[in-house]
Amino acid sequence: MMESQGIGMTSQRTRDRLVQRLRSEGIENPAVLEAIRATPRHLFVDEALASRAYEDTALPIGLGQTISQPYIVARMTELLLEVEPHKVLEVGTGSGYQAAILARLVDKVYSTERIEELTGQARQRFRKLGYRNVRVQHSDGMLGWPRFGPFDAIMVTAGGEDIPKPLLEQLTVGGRLVMPLGGRVQQTLVTVTRTPTVYERVDFEPVIFVPLIGGAG
Ligand code: SAH
Repeated sequence: MMESQGIGMTSQRTRDRLVQRLRSEGIENPAVLEAIRATPRHLFVDEALASRAYEDTALPIGLGQTISQPYIVARMTELLLEVEPHKVLEVGTGSGYQAAILARLVDKVYSTERIEELTGQARQRFRKLGYRNVRVQHSDGMLGWPRFGPFDAIMVTAGGEDIPKPLLEQLTVGGRLVMPLGGRVQQTLVTVTRTPTVYERVDFEPVIFVPLIGGAG
């Protein structure tokens, strides 16, 4: 792979610049910043886009989907880590980048993706890069992943109008879900934390995500 290339737009210096930028935008968790610094985002996009991988921007990954902007990845990860999760479910594997970030920070990551081709590509990346604590499945993530639940944290990386009920059910008490909630054009980043008695919702900044779609197609 190109990981050891060490020159040009994929160099360590370029990655450090991205981390500086995220810090200046308010990302504070040092473990999150270190995970971003250490993860080769250029290997999660097409080679033709590799030179743009350390810009703070979303990029197309084919099949109408996108790899999220690094700031959003960092922000959602930071919000999830507040509950100190061990086992995390991600809905919307996409390129696998977000799952790779989580894999550096928690014990076990389960990630589901409804587009089979993307599932396969992500699985191959994890194998090549030596991530052993990520498990990927081609399925409808709106159903969660009951076999391995409940989860200490759930991250949905596609936008929907409401939170799928199975996801709330597969959250441990004390666990937290983070998801873009809203319409097709724009959503709000929300966290829902499960207490012994209720689910507590907190709203954060506006975000733009591709839609969460039911069924594995
Ligand atoms: N987290 C990804 C970004 C994903 S974009 C990354 O780091 O690259 C959102 C992804 O969610 C798309 O790949 C889309 O196919 C997937 N998706 C949409 N609805 C889904 C569903 N119901 N279950 C699983 N994946 C879904």
